[in-house]
Amino acid sequence: MNTAVIGYPRVGKLRELKFATEAYFKGNKTQAELLSEAKALRAEHLNQQAAQKIAFISSNDFSFYDAVLDTACLLNVVPKRYQDLGLPELDRYFAMARGYQGDKGDVRALAMKKWFNTNYHYLVPEIEDSLEIKIASSKPFDEYQEAKELGIQTKPVVIGALTFFKLAQYLGSKQLVDFKADIIKAYQEIIQKFTDLGADWIQIDEPILVTDLTQQDIELFNEIYQAILSVKGKTKVVLQTYFGDVRDCYKELVALPFDGVGLDFVEGKQTLALLENNGFPAEKVLFAGVVNGKNIWKNDYKKTLTLLAKIKQKAANVVVNTSCSLLHVPYTLQNETKLTIQQRAYFAFAQEKLQELAELGQLLNEANPDNNATYKANQTLFTREREGANQVVRQKVAALKESDFTRLPEFSVREAEQKKAFNLPLLPTTTIGSFPQTPDVRLNRAKFKKGEICLNEYTEFNKQKIAECIKLQEEIGIDVLVHGEFERNDMVEYFGESLNGFVFTEKAWVQSYGTRCVKPPIVWGDISRSKPITVEYSKYAQSLTDKPVKGMLTGPVTILNWSFPREDISQKESVFQIGLAISDEVLDLEAAGIKVIQIDEAALKEKLPLRKADWNSEYLDWAIPAFRLVHSKVQADTQIHTHMCYSEFADIIKDIDAMDADVISFEASRSNLQLIDVLKANNFKTEVGPGVYDIHSPRVPPVAEIKATIEKLLAKIDNQKLWINPDCGLKTRGEKEVVESLEHLVQATLEVRKTL
Ligand code: GLN
Ligand code: ZN
Repeated sequence: MNTAVIGYPRVGKLRELKFATEAYFKGNKTQAELLSEAKALRAEHLNQQAAQKIAFISSNDFSFYDAVLDTACLLNVVPKRYQDLGLPELDRYFAMARGYQGDKGDVRALAMKKWFNTNYHYLVPEIEDSLEIKIASSKPFDEYQEAKELGIQTKPVVIGALTFFKLAQYLGSKQLVDFKADIIKAYQEIIQKFTDLGADWIQIDEPILVTDLTQQDIELFNEIYQAILSVKGKTKVVLQTYFGDVRDCYKELVALPFDGVGLDFVEGKQTLALLENNGFPAEKVLFAGVVNGKNIWKNDYKKTLTLLAKIKQKAANVVVNTSCSLLHVPYTLQNETKLTIQQRAYFAFAQEKLQELAELGQLLNEANPDNNATYKANQTLFTREREGANQVVRQKVAALKESDFTRLPEFSVREAEQKKAFNLPLLPTTTIGSFPQTPDVRLNRAKFKKGEICLNEYTEFNKQKIAECIKLQEEIGIDVLVHGEFERNDMVEYFGESLNGFVFTEKAWVQSYGTRCVKPPIVWGDISRSKPITVEYSKYAQSLTDKPVKGMLTGPVTILNWSFPREDISQKESVFQIGLAISDEVLDLEAAGIKVIQIDEAALKEKLPLRKADWNSEYLDWAIPAFRLVHSKVQADTQIHTHMCYSEFADIIKDIDAMDADVISFEASRSNLQLIDVLKANNFKTEVGPGVYDIHSPRVPPVAEIKATIEKLLAKIDNQKLWINPDCGLKTRGEKEVVESLEHLVQATLEVRKTL
């Protein structure tokens, strides 16, 4: 049976593309050098897929920065401010991605947003009224030709019209429909060009189809593709979807004159049912996404073969496909030297998934796969208990009851008690946790990791930094202090490393945006905590001052969302295990005299399901309880804070309040404080610290500006409930700007307080 890959990681097995591109940005590489390194990487990636005899290999899945940005350039969606720079094509492209400041001008970058439910970010296309849609780049065609010259017939990929134009931002008065005719023309031209070049297939990606669609969206989809496909000649077209199922438009989708349809059977909860209930046209090819493109666990061949057997009963022509682009998993296991043999046996990164596709393709041709050695080896992984099980933790999770998720006394009683106990001024000031990670802080950690200094030296240095940080905050006049997080490289990795059950990789990078990659930990086994993690530093920090110092933890949902989750137990069970471990830490902090504890849930919003109907059952019903579990056992006068990075949680405002924290701080300054109205309208009970200035910029906010922001906040929020803080951690900022900004924040608060 034939096999296909939706897209392959492009950054290179050792992030070669990242380093080449960054060298180019710094002027240490010429454009010609960058282009030739990119070409070599593309060749390597194509050859690897060809070696596993993948029948449908994608081209144009490469990008120097982002595929949505590539599509914008392809369709001439280049805002005037970038055109006016008069830069060469590649530099203009990078100007759109990163902004440009130089002798040609000063322009900001396009906005960046999360790509559906992944941790990848795309650049948001900006559509101006004056836009003239036309084919303005030869990239997809060149890359198709380039592959052909290597002897590989590829299926070029382009992002589909509906997805691209629905993700775009419309700056003028025109909307998507106003551009309809030109959009159709452009995509017709793309199909015609590939037909002229001799492509057998092209793949059009429409992940937007797995989100909630209106009747209007479905009609638009129908109309656009009826028109686009009317020019179809010899080149066949597969409409590819991923990240979910197409329950709103399955019938329309399979009725359109596509030659193939790509469906996701991994994340698409209803995909199989849609197929079984509605059938699939016999003359079309079903690209069945059965190899998970988002997680790193080996495929369970028994399950997949059973699934494929069901699929084959309904579809005559089936191709074994990945569930989405392999962009979302690391490149290869080959460079991991520290994994145990057992761990390694369970993982499949992108390169190993090619082999899985090949093996599945072969097993499907066999009458009796059960006797196949590959199959048997695969099944041993799924029939034996793997190392890392912890019965005590499992029993604890199984025994959880309603009261474990309920903090008593209720919020209003606690609030009154805490006001008395802490006796803070109105509008208390605080920060989110981290202070600048200056070169000395990073050097200290690096030396310790390399074994150049001992634990004692390492710790003493951090204590010194903590002491300076406490002194600084006291001098500035902040009310609730932090220790500064100097001992943490990353808010998830730090806890992962201290908990049992996580596995860390060395080179398993996944692209987050542009040249930036992240290396998520893997939840390998049952999670437990064997000893306190943060208590020593927190206790030390508190010993230096009479003001409260916040204990600082990462919440269970964020830890899970920024890791590769297990597939052998539910996310709910995993997050409760993490919750119990963090809860132990909370209680230890409390016992050590830490009266304010912040539990960050920076990534809570990130994994909210794409479809509203799934929000509660698939996510919130365990995510919110997981947070409640962490703090349910603390005393009434222990104040629990939480922090969230994006304030885009208007839709789940009631759930956020139901986390039952005492105080929440969040990022609000960039969204024009829109959320404030929502808080008021919903009678939000939790005390709030909507960030009063943007820490993502080195700019120092003037006192008057912060004052004006506080006044705006006070117009909507009861002064008994308002906290004053920056909008996120200060770790990436310079020391000087941090000191000045915080001085201004305190000054502004003092001035407003006088008027209350
Ligand atoms: N406490 C963390 C910090 O201050 C929070 C980081 C985050 O929200 N991303 O760095
Ligand atoms: Zn944040």
